[in-house]
Amino acid sequence: MNRDEIWKRVREHRSPWDMIVIGGGATGVGIAIDGASRGYDVLLLEQSDFGKGTSSRSTKLAHGGVRYLEQGNLGLVMEALKERGLLLQNAPHLVHDLAFVVPNYEWWEAPFYGIGLKLYQLLAGKYGFGKSRLLSREETLERLPTIKTDGLRGGAIYYDGQFDDSRLLTHMVMTAFEQGAALLNYCEVTGLAKDSQGFADGVIARDTESGEELRAWGKVVVNATGAFADRLRRAADSSVAPMIAPSQGVHLVFKSDFLPLNSAIMVPHTSDGRVLFAIPWHGHVMVGTTDTPVSTSTLEPLALDSEVDFILSTAAQYLTRTPTRDDVLSVFAGIRPLVRAEGVANTAALSRDHVIHIDSSGLMTVCGGKWTTYRRMAEDCVDQATTLAQLPEKPCLTRDLKIHGFQSSSEDLGPLAVYGSDAGEIGKLIADNPALGETLHSDLPYLKAQVIWAVRHEMARTIEDVLARRTRALFLNARAALAMAPAVADLMASEMKWDAGTKQKQLAAFREVAANYVLHT
Ligand SMILES: Cc1cc2nc3c(=O)[nH]c(=O)nc-3n(C[C@H](O)[C@H](O)[C@H](O)COP(=O)(O)OP(=O)(O)OC[C@H]3O[C@@H](n4cnc5c(N)ncnc54)[C@H](O)[C@@H]3O)c2cc1C
Repeated sequence: MNRDEIWKRVREHRSPWDMIVIGGGATGVGIAIDGASRGYDVLLLEQSDFGKGTSSRSTKLAHGGVRYLEQGNLGLVMEALKERGLLLQNAPHLVHDLAFVVPNYEWWEAPFYGIGLKLYQLLAGKYGFGKSRLLSREETLERLPTIKTDGLRGGAIYYDGQFDDSRLLTHMVMTAFEQGAALLNYCEVTGLAKDSQGFADGVIARDTESGEELRAWGKVVVNATGAFADRLRRAADSSVAPMIAPSQGVHLVFKSDFLPLNSAIMVPHTSDGRVLFAIPWHGHVMVGTTDTPVSTSTLEPLALDSEVDFILSTAAQYLTRTPTRDDVLSVFAGIRPLVRAEGVANTAALSRDHVIHIDSSGLMTVCGGKWTTYRRMAEDCVDQATTLAQLPEKPCLTRDLKIHGFQSSSEDLGPLAVYGSDAGEIGKLIADNPALGETLHSDLPYLKAQVIWAVRHEMARTIEDVLARRTRALFLNARAALAMAPAVADLMASEMKWDAGTKQKQLAAFREVAANYVLHT
């Protein structure tokens, strides 16, 4: 996956692509995999890095959504539970099951959550993970030794999926590429091109690295820009009504001693009517999230003080040791691309169903949904796109399509487990040059070889790409990531032939972004 070679292919592609997909998050890359695996000629353009938007900032749950069960949306839950099962089947190196415990402090909670979680298990049918059941007080404490014991009666346990969102996305990009799609990061779509009848027939785009302009023709143009979807729709037709109700969600990351074992806590009713999770993730604990309506969508959203305080105070109600701002290793925010609904003021109550909408210009927008359901969203979208583009119909193949790196048991690969079948190749880099086996920071497991791998094979272009999305250093420990940056810059400079000025610019850009992930006290 070499960016220069893909650019050359795109530049020389003078005939219309079957599909042009705008946006390199889970939705867009899912569509590229689906379209390319059916044999269509697909181009995907991402303005920043793949996954820079919401798709690297999720709670990292491949789940049906226990909360939607309570809202009575059984169809959505069943669909997502099936997709959860397919994700585990097709990307077992990146998705695994995780035990969630709902601690019970009131007499009614055990029967209430016990029945609900049993239903959740049953709805998964043959795609089920572990069995839901009630736990005694002792069993609850065995799984959650740091939970508050005052008034604790017991708990209810259920199983869901956990994954590494931007690592999965990286392997999805590689899968789409292997299926024949052309994908470019750092290529912003600046406008929609239209034919003489005002119908979308392609895009105008710009390589944000070189400034080179591109005009690409497409039989159908799919807008998969998530929280930015209205911006593109309005650029094509300023009269369209907005579809998106953006809502921000924040997570805080702590050392693992706040939740030392392998079970997560699920708090089903916070004071703002949401669920809150405390989840073990890559040797740390991630706590979140919030649901705050925001007026605009940005690529680097900032956590509000009120959101940080809300997470800290809710976590303090459940943990024996009160977490403080000083304990926060990283804070990150993401924006949900929720679909607007008349009369619904609270974004937490908005449906997580996906919507496919076609404007009068022919621009097809797909938004809403969840990470977990990306494959299903892509299948629906490509079905409709082929009709719109008058392409020959071909069946969807993604239900059984293995994601790049597929390896059924990768746990014994240690910190390289998320690379699946690529882990051996990283091992070879180290065998050839043992210095690449050195870690970049004593608090995180990342190796120098991973930087080289990210540049050579995963289309990482910036220090941030490496530290935020190819590895998860910035999301796990922002200060450690800042300390790693100079060594990463040296490695990238020699791989990418950066001169001293470029290296300094890269470092300055990374420091500016990373400052958003450091929580100041
Ligand atoms: C806090 C939070 C927690 C969540 N937790 C979960 C969870 O645990 N499980 C789950 O299933 N779902 C979860 N979700 C939902 C899930 O993350 C999103 O539904 C999903 O990531 C949306 O993907 P997307 O591709 O539509 O959007 P994005 O990932 O935002 O991708 C859109 C892309 O379009 C690009 N773009 C925009 N404009 C242009 C342009 N002009 N040219 C080129 N590119 C452009 C952007 O740069 C961006 O990368 C969560 C969401 C949030 C916010």
